[in-house]
Amino acid sequence: MSNDQSAMNELHWLIDMVQTIEVGLVVLDRHYNIQLWNGFMENHSGVSPNSIKGQNLFTRFPDLPDTWLKQKMESVFMLKNRAFISWEQRPYVFKFKNYRPITGRADFMYQNVTLLPLASLTGQITHISVIIYDVTDIAINKLQLKAANEQLQRLSQIDGLTQLYNRRYWQECLNHEYDLHARYSDIASLVLLDIDNFKHINDSYGHLVGDKVIQHIAHLLSQSLRETDCAGRYGGEEFTVILPKTSGADAIRFTERLREKIASSVITYENLKITVTVSLGACEIGSDITSSSNWILCADKALYEAKEKGRNCSVLYTSNQ
Ligand code: GH3
Ligand code: MG
Ligand code: MG
Repeated sequence: MSNDQSAMNELHWLIDMVQTIEVGLVVLDRHYNIQLWNGFMENHSGVSPNSIKGQNLFTRFPDLPDTWLKQKMESVFMLKNRAFISWEQRPYVFKFKNYRPITGRADFMYQNVTLLPLASLTGQITHISVIIYDVTDIAINKLQLKAANEQLQRLSQIDGLTQLYNRRYWQECLNHEYDLHARYSDIASLVLLDIDNFKHINDSYGHLVGDKVIQHIAHLLSQSLRETDCAGRYGGEEFTVILPKTSGADAIRFTERLREKIASSVITYENLKITVTVSLGACEIGSDITSSSNWILCADKALYEAKEKGRNCSVLYTSNQ
């Protein structure tokens, strides 16, 4: 075989590969006119190379993010460096449908894109090549993993029965609020709530009804919160609330409103109509509070006093308690 013939063969193979490779290849001249459009691009866009050759990319595809993409391409021409566009930065450059059966949940093809400067024989960058990789499978896996992790994280923070924060996560919030106080002297109050004579509910109607009562109280509590308040289920029928930027006097206004709301509500379960009351202790953070556990202890003292006073009331902690 002559040298010419083998060179021709090589060229033929190369063209064949460019056409059939499972990667999108586009070559653009300095004015963004399309010089090469391979089989991948044809298959996904439905536009044949013959019908598009010589046409301006941005005129032909008006949906492309032209300002942004031109800026990227200009820098490839000017700096003679390649550039990358990741699907995490922008899910796709060319909006192609996703046909993959496994990742059927994606409506479009996620793409990583490389912009490559192509030098002429004189070393000038006269063209650039746009290489498009279909990364739908990778993207979907990563997005699903991220969603699953977020869901797991949420579940690890939430109490299943009440949908309030669980004790472990709530404790983290409390530590954070305590640190804010220690560092910036931020004012805040802590509230403990305990259902009155709850054993009686369990004993009279059973645990299932007891659970309904706990859910009911948690629901009324959630409805009473501001965006920044943080409520948790501290124990069986005990709840806690952090009220940032709230004085003791305001905390008591909060607890009294909640207490009255609970006392006047009726829980209906099958033929039962149940009313319950709660006792609450509140404690404003101050110089006498030396740690987050100390803060809880003081709110607990106030709660204990509310129980001693006959229940269905709220008490604000004072340092002589
Ligand atoms: P007090 O007014 O002094 O608070 O009286 P109390 O009967 O409510 O006493 P206490 O607060 O000690 O009662 C806790 C009871 O709550 C004991 C336990 O059987 C019940 N309990 C704890 N967790 C749950 C739960 O998840 N579901 C149900 N149904 N009951 C629970
Ligand atoms: Mg209790
Ligand atoms: Mg109780």
